[in-house]
Amino acid sequence: MTIAFIGLGNMGAPMARCLIAAGHSVMGYDPVATPDDIPLASSAAEAVAQADVAITMLPNGDILRAVAAEIHAAMRQGSLHLDCSTIDVDSARAVATAAQTLGLHAVDAPVSGGIGGATNGTLTFMAGGRDTAFAMAKPLFEIMGQKAVHCGEAGAGQAAKICNNMILGATMIATCEAFALADKLGLDRQSMFDVVSTSSGQSWSMNTYCPAPGVGPESPADNSYIPGFSATLMLKDLRLAQHAAQTSGATTPLGDRATDLYADMVELSGMGGMDFSAMLTLLTDKD
Ligand code: NAD
Repeated sequence: MTIAFIGLGNMGAPMARCLIAAGHSVMGYDPVATPDDIPLASSAAEAVAQADVAITMLPNGDILRAVAAEIHAAMRQGSLHLDCSTIDVDSARAVATAAQTLGLHAVDAPVSGGIGGATNGTLTFMAGGRDTAFAMAKPLFEIMGQKAVHCGEAGAGQAAKICNNMILGATMIATCEAFALADKLGLDRQSMFDVVSTSSGQSWSMNTYCPAPGVGPESPADNSYIPGFSATLMLKDLRLAQHAAQTSGATTPLGDRATDLYADMVELSGMGGMDFSAMLTLLTDKD
């Protein structure tokens, strides 16, 4: 297959490398990142001109809308636009409608699994779009990931992603608060982990990605909170979730509070570049 890959940042470049390693012909484009092991075009339009599939992996919905306007006009009839960025549901739906109007197929498929998952081809994709479009994307999901869930029509992938990450943000804070309370009560952190990780308080945040250093499996807490998943990206996803909650009329008080706490971590404490589990240091340093 001939594949255009637009957006070769922390996630896009390793995803493109997985496709190249699987034998596909990839042409990349990024105005800033120019990895020397990926063939590059001089514009997004040039990259997509001969492609069966154009994949985008971009920072936000405004940038995706601008890139989509450029590439849709240059894509071949019947080809697929597969967007893997994490963006707002409205932009995902608008881009899919624009693609279909021009005779293109479209899938929104944000990912979970981070840079490690992108490098190892073990991402989880949550996809929105028509059945035919999902079927076109499926062989590529199998190369770049280990699981792909077809969640529904256009925008459903983004909806699933922000719901998942709202749970993640809230459970990470709850896990950090529990460690802070345990510290005050004189309960050692290993005992806390041993009990909670096998009791009803367990979660991915505790069991797999424990925010307390030296406890549980290896996690960013054991590596000076180098991401992993940065607090800035967590704040971005929580804000997408709150925007979606407001526009759809959903009630999400914990998601709202988690957004405020991550905004403080990023904007007041200047910790946006640290892993999101470093929330623990803010809760335990307040004496
Ligand atoms: P990144 O900032 O490293 O990469 C984004 C790339 O897009 C950059 O290289 C930038 O130059 C490029 N870009 C910007 N404008 C462009 C344009 N007009 N045309 C072409 N390229 C353009 O970000 P990332 O970490 O790779 O994340 C990409 C997306 O994946 C984001 O939506 C993010 O929320 C999501 N995501 C990231 C992670 C993670 O752990 N990093 C995990 C899951 C999802």
